[in-house]
Order: sequence, then structure tokens, then C-alpha cells
Amino acid sequence: MTVNEDLLDGAVRHQVYLQRFSTSTVRKLIGLLNRSDVDLVAQMTKYDPMDVSGAWSQKRLAKLLEAIRVVNRDAYRLVDREITDVLRNLAMYEAGFQARAISSTLPIAIDIVTPSAEQLYAAVNSRPFQGRVMKEWGKDLEAAAFSRVRDAIRQGYVEGQTTDQIVRRIRGTRAAKFEDGILQINRRSAESVVRTAVNHTANVARQETYKANADLIAKVRWVATLDGRTSAVCRGRDGQTFSLDSGPRPPAHFGCRSTTVPVTKSWRELGFDIDDLPPGTRASMNGQVPATETYQSWLKRQPAAFQDDVLGSTRGALFRKGDLPLDRFVDRNGQELTLDQLRMKEAGAFQKAGLAA
Ligand SMILES: [Zn+2]
Repeated sequence: MTVNEDLLDGAVRHQVYLQRFSTSTVRKLIGLLNRSDVDLVAQMTKYDPMDVSGAWSQKRLAKLLEAIRVVNRDAYRLVDREITDVLRNLAMYEAGFQARAISSTLPIAIDIVTPSAEQLYAAVNSRPFQGRVMKEWGKDLEAAAFSRVRDAIRQGYVEGQTTDQIVRRIRGTRAAKFEDGILQINRRSAESVVRTAVNHTANVARQETYKANADLIAKVRWVATLDGRTSAVCRGRDGQTFSLDSGPRPPAHFGCRSTTVPVTKSWRELGFDIDDLPPGTRASMNGQVPATETYQSWLKRQPAAFQDDVLGSTRGALFRKGDLPLDRFVDRNGQELTLDQLRMKEAGAFQKAGLAA
């Protein structure tokens, strides 16, 4: 097995554990939000905006909204503090893990540099993911969560609903396990940001480690998860390599599970004279990207029904009979092309698949 094959294997295994970590982080955070949701609903009864005659009072309504704003703000600040802590530790752990993975895979002792905690922390916080930096995400989550609740209350006021009805709308119903309320939307969106933030943090830590060891690492390879939930952009990028300091990096979208792996230089590129090396280690650092499975080759081996499930039936046929590789299903920015756009660009594949109009 070459060093680069070894690194790829390790990265795939490691990503499974990172996803588990992401899930347990989300669980912790949802726990915090749930506790605050109880508080929030309590405010609804405490500051019932309806007066004794059953009419809504603007003054009471304003008081209620202010009370809810405070509960909401405190909850999201708590979440923010908790997540900041978790991610800071994750960044350090991940960088250390990467450095160890590289050094333990190399057949000879080469010094591997681990970036400092400050450097990692600065990179994690300054690099945006999905268009925003970490701090903005925290603020935006808080603001959006409050707006949703506030709007539901105001809407209820306009529609002449009772306080009970509004509480139900916000909290959801027991029958639906409270998954039909406004608060569930808030929980979902927090979950989505946190999952993405975990992947962002791990990937930034990796990237910083690669850069700190640029003398050893030639390029970076995209590694997508091989299952039915992988997005079009990640299916297309899987196995592609990018230069060390440019090109896309995961997360490519909310909830992205992709990771990267370094591709090390060959002995020759590192300045070693191959003849000086023990025969056993000569072949291990060939600088080649491992020719192991990619999403493309993996999906090829899956039953047609599964391929259709992942791609949709037309794209499934293009993939199978039209021989259209997965990276052609997305544009340069990773946006999935519509069937109309595909038809324009890939007329040949449509014809081959017997789908030509
Ligand atoms: Zn992805």
C-alpha cells in the first residue's frame, strides 16, 4: 500500500467518527434549546397579551415580545459559547490528528508541523462557510429564531387566535411530537448550521495542517461520503485534486459530509535519491493519487434502482447508458444542472441513453 492510499483509507475512517461527533454536538445543542423553549412558552402564559375581556392589548403584546426576545437571546448566547468551545477543541484535535496521520504513514521520519492553536482559531473564525463567518452565523441564528416566533405571535394577533392556539403553533402539538411547531424550524436550522460548522472547523484545521507542511504535500484530494445522501456537487468533486492554496474545500453546502486528504509528493519531488532508499520504501511514495474507489466508480456498481434513487431516473439513464460522468451533472460552481441545461450541454449523452427528444 502506498502512503497516499494509506492516508485516504485513514481519512475515510476518520470522517465516520467526525460525523458521530457532529451528531453528539447537535444533541447537546438541541438539549440547550429545548430547555429555553420551555422558558419561552412560560412567558406566553406569564405575559398573556389578551386582557380580561379577551381582546389583545398592544402594550401586553410588546411586553411579551420583549420577554421572548430576552429568553431567545440568552439561549442562543449559551449555544454560541458552548459551540465555540467545542469547535476550538475540535480544531486543535483535528490538526493534531492530521499531523499524526501523516507522520505515522510516512516510511521515514520527517518532521510534521502542527499549526498553533491561535493560528487555527483565527482561520476557523475568519474563513466563511456558506457565505458567512462563524460569528455572523451565531447572530443570524438568534435573529431568525426570534423573528419566526415574533411573526407567529403577531400573525395570531391579526387572525384573532387565542393564546392557546398561538402557543400550539409555536411549540407544536404533542400528537406530532412537537415537530410541527415554529420552534422545530428553529431547532432544524440551528442543527444544520452546527453540523456545517463542525465540518468547516475540521476542514479548516486540516487545510492549515497541509499548508504548514507544504514542503511535503503536493495537493489536496476531495473525499465524498459514498452513500445515497451525497449531494450532486460532492458526487462530482469526489476524487478530484486541487492545489494546496486554491480551489474549493468542504463544506460545499449545508450538512456537507465531505472531507479532504493530502496527496504527498514523490520521493524524487522531495529531493531524495531513490537508490539510497531501502527497496521496501521506494514504491510507497510515488506521488500518485490513489486509484481507489471514487463516488463515480462506487455508484457504477450499485443497482440501477439505487442509482435512480440518488440521481433521478433521467440522470440515472444518462449515467448508465449515456456514460455521462458525475462531474458533468454540476456546473463549475457545484450547482446541479437542470435537465434542460444538461440537454443543451450533453446532447450526445442524451442520444446515447435513448433520451433524445
Ligand atoms: Zn457535500
